[in-house]
Amino acid sequence: MDRVVVITGGGRGIGAATARLAARRGYRVCVNYHRDAGAAERVVEAITDDGGTAIAVPADVGRAEDVERLFATVDTELGGVTALVNNAGVLERQCRLDEMDEHRLLRVLQTNVVGCFLTARQAVLRMSTRYGGAGGAIVNVSSAAARIGSPGEYIDYAASKGAVDTLTRGLALEVAAEGIRVNAVRPGFIDTEIHASGGEPGRVARLAGQLPLGRGGRPEEVAEAVVWLLSEAASYTTGTILDVAGGR
Ligand code: NAP
Repeated sequence: MDRVVVITGGGRGIGAATARLAARRGYRVCVNYHRDAGAAERVVEAITDDGGTAIAVPADVGRAEDVERLFATVDTELGGVTALVNNAGVLERQCRLDEMDEHRLLRVLQTNVVGCFLTARQAVLRMSTRYGGAGGAIVNVSSAAARIGSPGEYIDYAASKGAVDTLTRGLALEVAAEGIRVNAVRPGFIDTEIHASGGEPGRVARLAGQLPLGRGGRPEEVAEAVVWLLSEAASYTTGTILDVAGGR
């Protein structure tokens, strides 16, 4: 089967690990990025060196015109999209709600929530049998923060991931009869650069001892769950949220 996947925020961290694994499993991969072109190009290079097919495409997922251009580029360069991984996400410096201003809240929600809606919309327009598509799969990258709430750290981020969980459930039911499965993974503490944005690059190491499995996770361990949910092996799984959080 012809498989084409768009991975938002695919240049670094969990997105990069997912891009590399999806390519090894036979997908042609669009590595979307926002600012770090060099990182995205390195992922593309690693995939092509391995004999796979990948392109790097810039787009801010929170902007509709960027997202439309992203999917149009994929149509032309890779062919019809069959899978989407909504991985792009941001968090801001740890603080309490009473210190959060409007601009921060809008930045977090624009990328983490509106971004997922905009990309899912373009994917559904192409994959849904309602519009002549052949079906497909979407995986949203949520966070254990959606369950925990992240008090004193970033409840805005946690709430944005709560919205991602609800989007996953609602969209899964909306398009279930149109050949599209929609699921989410909820990672726990994974060793990536996102923690530096919160002001604590060493966060995973600090909290590792408190985790049931006694360590933080690796991006590759999340990628395995994402790529399984995309695959035919998960053909009867939709509307589900899979925790990949070391028991947390
Ligand atoms: P990361 O290493 O900081 O990577 C974030 C990625 O998102 C980057 O590739 C970045 O692109 C991209 N991005 C940010 N804003 C974007 C925008 N507006 N448009 C397009 N791309 C954008 O983070 P990560 O830890 O791998 O996180 C990936 C996902 O996992 C996020 O949704 C995060 O919330 C979730 N998650 C992570 C953890 C964890 O512990 N690491 C836990 C739970 C959930 P550039 O490279 O171009 O900046």
